[in-house]
Amino acid sequence: MVGGDEVGEGVWEGLRVYRDELLRWNERVNLTAIREPGEVDRRLIGDALRLLPAVDAYAGGGRLVDVGTGAGFPGLALKIARPELDVTLIEATGKKVAFLRHVIETLGLEGVEAVHGRAEELGHDRRYRGRFDLATARAVAVLPALLELCMPLLRVGGRALFPKGAEVGTEFAEGERAAPLVGARIERADLLPGEPDEPVTRLVIAAKIGETPNRFPRRSGIPAKEPLGRA
Ligand code: SAH
Repeated sequence: MVGGDEVGEGVWEGLRVYRDELLRWNERVNLTAIREPGEVDRRLIGDALRLLPAVDAYAGGGRLVDVGTGAGFPGLALKIARPELDVTLIEATGKKVAFLRHVIETLGLEGVEAVHGRAEELGHDRRYRGRFDLATARAVAVLPALLELCMPLLRVGGRALFPKGAEVGTEFAEGERAAPLVGARIERADLLPGEPDEPVTRLVIAAKIGETPNRFPRRSGIPAKEPLGRA
């Protein structure tokens, strides 16, 4: 795993318990296609910890929302690594939410909530709209859809982190066109330093620079099916 110099002993223990519970549950509930402990460490936990410098820069002590968190990546791994963060995990699939709640209870974590729902709906809910300093979303949708789902949840001045593969291609151009429609500006899309034999991550960082119009996000399924900014 990466980030060894950035997290303390108790954190490694927490991450180990999380990984073991993930592998144990995954035998009967389909939580992730990754089934090998080393792969969980590298591809899921390691990838999440690689976001820590950006998380520390933009959310230090604030509120983070992870949209489409699945089995908790990156949001729950970040919460374990940075217990002082207030974290909301949004996930549409009930059995994944049950797993998240199990891990939260097992580790006795406070200041973290797993919400069963869709970002399209929670983005119009007063309890969530405009409430967060930082949003993350990994392997959930193309960039314009991520912007539509995440920007409504952020306060103006907040940031969103979208880890992507090295080649973002056409989705990047679509994201650039979608951004101003939802009050966002794409600030950076840098390659992250990583392990030599690991797939490269390009971290797209978007800032919320103005209010998101109330018509966004559109209704469930539309942001992914009809992405904004498609030429
Ligand atoms: N982020 C995790 C999971 C990726 S799979 C990881 O990197 O491993 C994508 C997950 O997003 C699925 O669990 C799916 O249920 C969830 N999802 C997709 N669209 C969503 C939406 N609009 N609102 C909430 N969850 C969503």
